[in-house]
Amino acid sequence: METLLLTTSEQDITKAAEIIRKGGLVGMPTETVYGLAADALNPKAVMSIFEAKGRPADNPLIVHISNINDIEKFGLTAEIPEKALRLAEKFWPGPLTVIMPKGKNVPPQVTAGLNSVAIRFPSHKGAQALISKSQRPLAAPSANLSGSPSPTTAQHVMNDLGGRIGAVIDGGDCEVGLESTVVTLCTNPPTLLRPGKVTLEELREVLGEVNLSSAVLEKLKDKEEAPSPGMKYRHYAPNAKVYLVKGDDRAFTEFVNSKTGEGVLSLCYDEDAARICVPYITLGKKGDYDEEAHNLFSALRKIDETPNIKTVYARCPDTKGVGMAVYNRLIRAAGFEVIDLYE
Ligand code: AMP
Ligand code: MG
Repeated sequence: METLLLTTSEQDITKAAEIIRKGGLVGMPTETVYGLAADALNPKAVMSIFEAKGRPADNPLIVHISNINDIEKFGLTAEIPEKALRLAEKFWPGPLTVIMPKGKNVPPQVTAGLNSVAIRFPSHKGAQALISKSQRPLAAPSANLSGSPSPTTAQHVMNDLGGRIGAVIDGGDCEVGLESTVVTLCTNPPTLLRPGKVTLEELREVLGEVNLSSAVLEKLKDKEEAPSPGMKYRHYAPNAKVYLVKGDDRAFTEFVNSKTGEGVLSLCYDEDAARICVPYITLGKKGDYDEEAHNLFSALRKIDETPNIKTVYARCPDTKGVGMAVYNRLIRAAGFEVIDLYE
């Protein structure tokens, strides 16, 4: 199949919306990462998302809307919880996904048979235009092959899914660069399932008490049930083996420099670059969590484009604010392998 590379012009959005309405797949720019969009009310189209990505069928999808009224209009939920309205008021359109009780119109393929549904209203104008023009809610996971880093440019989507999907809309570099924050209202108090640009502190300001799922920062124990199916899977990983390294500036530099000549790459901060003697990629200035988030996935993709890299040592980000989201993705990319130089 030829994959069209489209722009966000009205004419191209119309083309993309036609593909969606015929049950096809479109790579959609959003402010978080690129999504792989299909008509959420068409079970066959939804199933082809799983096929194109190689995504496990028990990992549910987020439904994207372009107006809060879409929830009722398309029967996405049985009722809209009052807490969802408060979150929408503060964070929508934007990088927050809210899980609520599922309405009867949502096919089980979207929710992997769960009785809850994940809903997001993105702020990216290209995403909003595609959803409105399609006149459908759009189910969309990240537009990468399952297991690889999420795509933050149209080229990343083409690299992973070119030839398997109808079109990609190029809406530029994703502003946030990490997937949305996911909070469920199906527990009392609500639970943060995946950290993102909207932080735990910000959610607590609106909702009061919010629990942090233990699987956000730690590995699920053997046989422990995942509060969100996506937590079970290997994620975001480049081909090289990644380790998170805890240690101060000096200890980190000495550690990676002792590995010269071993196919090692260091994922570090701008400030480290001058002292590091192995190949490196920086995530930005130390402590600038937004910049780290913005750069992380393209950095992970660049690792695989650097010849002969077998091992990556990544500086361990801090877990404050948006840093928690960066840590959550990196610890998964590292398969929870941590080297602690403080010990
Ligand atoms: P992605 O679409 O790849 O950004 O992933 C969406 C994330 O939301 C995955 O981790 C899913 O497991 C999670 N998710 C979607 N729907 C639900 C739901 N109804 N209950 C719990 N987690 C969900
Ligand atoms: Mg994903």
